[in-house]
Amino acid sequence: MDGCDHTLLAALALGDASPAEAYTAGCHLGHCAACRTELAELQELVATARTASPGGDAVRPPGRVWQAVADAVTAEGDGTDAPDGTGPVRER
Ligand SMILES: [Zn+2]
Repeated sequence: MDGCDHTLLAALALGDASPAEAYTAGCHLGHCAACRTELAELQELVATARTASPGGDAVRPPGRVWQAVADAVTAEGDGTDAPDGTGPVRER
């Protein structure tokens, strides 16, 4: 880009810039302190907005995490209960 492209900076901060756009912006950022500062501020803003949004994907673990937890708990339960009767005696 020739001058300061604020739209492109926003796209970079959001992670929406294409590789070509990122390269172009990178060349400009190399010699433009104002844009480096603006990009840093935008990235901070994006990070804050994504972590602060209630119910957003950023704060909700994917379903596979809970499945992994469930699997781990199940496996642990099977392991501690000795199948041959040498485990803890259960009162009846
Ligand atoms: Zn600039």
